[in-house]
Amino acid sequence: MSAVLSVSALAKRYGELEALHDVSFQVRAGELVAVIGPNGAGKTTLLSIIAGIQPPTAGTVSRSANEVGWAPQQPALYSKLSVAENLELFARLEKVAEPRAAVARMLEQTGLADRAREPVARLSGGNRQRVNVALGLIADPPVLALDEPSASLDPAQRGRLWEFVGGLARGGTAVVFSTHNVNEAQRFADRVLVLAEGHLLFDGAPVTLLRDAGESGGDDLERALVSFLETHAPTSKRGPA
Ligand code: ATP
Repeated sequence: MSAVLSVSALAKRYGELEALHDVSFQVRAGELVAVIGPNGAGKTTLLSIIAGIQPPTAGTVSRSANEVGWAPQQPALYSKLSVAENLELFARLEKVAEPRAAVARMLEQTGLADRAREPVARLSGGNRQRVNVALGLIADPPVLALDEPSASLDPAQRGRLWEFVGGLARGGTAVVFSTHNVNEAQRFADRVLVLAEGHLLFDGAPVTLLRDAGESGGDDLERALVSFLETHAPTSKRGPA
């Protein structure tokens, strides 16, 4: 299947800091791709560039900003407005052709129809995150970028979120998400991208990362990642030999 998103030779500098260095990969329709790596690896920078929130210093993203949905880590919701009002506001900002129809579709898709008139301030963290993701989906984009979507959720809310995101992917939406929860990446992602200090060190199936990490990793992707980074991380941060 051909790629719905191609990222080529992406680089990002913040002054002296090289936050992304020559990052290239492709994503196919319906793929769930996890971006994992240590703090400061460049995960948010990468996702926000894909979503058109900020420009790269060099390189290209094959999709324009309005073709990539974006759910930031800190939801930009208006807490005094209802769920439906938030959705309608964003539908209009995104210049969706039929905003009311888009709101109805998102309420249905997210299972939030019975909370439509409730102010966002009164929602649980899980439902608020659903609205956040729904805002990213309001223009029905082929690609969705989620920055640590499950970070503030309890296990049950997390389960429901992944069920929902999995459904999106089965419907053909390509989803690229970042997470510090490596086990979540192992369970839900078709592919993982390992970033460290802005370098893309690995692009493949979780099972391949486990294999590449060798015996020390076992079937625990978190341990495998640590062991992988010890041997592959850019030299500046490697520990003593
Ligand atoms: P975390 O897991 O902690 O969220 P991350 O992998 O998402 O980290 P980024 O937030 O993309 O990493 O940051 C990558 C690097 O770029 C870090 O060193 C960060 O301090 C730096 N950085 C990010 N945004 C800016 C900015 N607007 N100005 C300057 N430096 C920035």
